[in-house]
Formats: sequence, structure tokens, C-alpha cells
Amino acid sequence: MMNEPLAALTAWLAQWSDQTEFVEVAVSRNSDGFELRHRLDAGRNANELRHLEPSELRDWVQTTETGAFRPNKLAPNLRTGWHFSARSQPALEEALRILYPGALADWFAEQRGIPATGMREYFGRQTGMYRVAQQLTDEFAARAVRANCAPESCRRRRIWEVPGLTPDSPAQTSLVPCFEPCGTMMEMARRMAKSQQALPISVRLLPDELESALAAVRQLLQSGSIDSREGDLAAPDNPRRLRLLEASLQGALEAAPTVRPPSSG
Ligand code: SF4
Repeated sequence: MMNEPLAALTAWLAQWSDQTEFVEVAVSRNSDGFELRHRLDAGRNANELRHLEPSELRDWVQTTETGAFRPNKLAPNLRTGWHFSARSQPALEEALRILYPGALADWFAEQRGIPATGMREYFGRQTGMYRVAQQLTDEFAARAVRANCAPESCRRRRIWEVPGLTPDSPAQTSLVPCFEPCGTMMEMARRMAKSQQALPISVRLLPDELESALAAVRQLLQSGSIDSREGDLAAPDNPRRLRLLEASLQGALEAAPTVRPPSSG
């Protein structure tokens, strides 16, 4: 009987013929087996790219372009400039497992109808420090999920249910499903549950100022110059926290009256 990883690979290979993409990696068949490279390098000549040996691939995926550690291998920050040859199906399966641990198995599980765990059910099972997540309102929970699971941070496709949100589509994310909230999501939910209990601080801003604040946050998010670690939600400049702020500023801007009431004086 075929082992589970190879059964998953065989099922996935049956879905495409010459080439495909798996998260950020372009995979193609050739006379030697399979070739993998970053999808952004798809049009480049192989001799412009660094050829990685199996032992080098493992190190390659650990860090980003700037040398930062990649705790979430499904984050869209895989380095470009390489290619890899897999001369057999087991070699391809191993390479995909190094690039995206557990991803092919999860895709196969979804194909076989393994169900996801909805957010409320998952929160309901929590004890200890994450129990407070049960108090999140639907509105705050949706905001937390939008900021935490944005495709800029994670290319897993959320298939678990969140009140008020539709599941992610493969076009926005990837074929790789997410069956239940991960550790970062739980930490975000815990923080949000505590935040919703705090008194909000009102700040009076003119619409122009609000626009500038929003532009500044967006520029910071796109700059690639944020130092805090991806999973460190205690850091005020954490990208997920900045995305929460971006959504709040956007909401405030949309709600702002465009015509000011005439002054009574
Ligand atoms: S919960 Fe969100 S951030 Fe965590 S793995 Fe799933 S999709 Fe990614």
C-alpha cells in the first residue's frame, strides 16, 4: 500500500500536466523529473539562478531576503534566485515538505473531506490564557482574523468559519488549507478580547490628517523595513497590528462626513 505522503503527492500530480504553482513555487516536469523555483523567477534562464542541492534547500527556506528568520513557512517571503531539481517523486515530495511543511498533507486532507473547526468551536475548547478569546464579539473577531490571516502574512487558505466573513479563495491565498486558528491567531484573539474590554481613546483628527495617518501606515506596511518579528504581537509595529490599525483608520475615513456642517457663527 502507498504511504500517505506519496499518496498525497500522487493525487496532487494528477491535477496538472506540465507546470503548476504551489504557494510561491513554480513546479514543472522535465526529462529529468521536476524543476522547482520561485514563481517570480519563472521566466528566467536556469543559469541565472543558483542551483540548490537538497541539503542547501533546507537552509535556504529559513531566512528572508534580508536575513530574518521565517517562523511561518507559508508567509509570502520565500527568497527568489534559486532553482532545484527533484529527480524522483519521493525527492519532489521531500522538497515540498521542506518548502511548505505539512502543506501537501493538508491539501490532501481537504480533498478527502476532513472538516475544518469553526472559530467559535475552537475558541470554546480553549482553557488557560486563551480562554478569554471566547469573549470576542463577532465584529472584533472578524477584524482580528482579517488582520492576522491577510495574504500579505500567510498564504494558507482559511476554510474555518468566522461569523461575518466568507472563507478565503485559492486565488487570494493558495491551495493549502488552514483547518483551524494557529498560535499567532490565538494570540491575536487574546489581545483583541482584552482590548475590547478597554475604554477606547478618542482622537480628533481632520479628514486630511486621517488620510495622512492612513497613508503613513500603508507606506510602513509596504516598506519592508519593519523590524519586529512576525509573531511578536506585543510589538506595536508588528505588521498584523499595523493592519488592524489600517482597517480602523480606513473605517473612520469612510465614516467621516465629506461636507462639514456650516459654522453657526
Ligand atoms: S490561522 Fe490564519 S495566519 Fe494562522 S495559519 Fe491559518 S490562515 Fe495562516
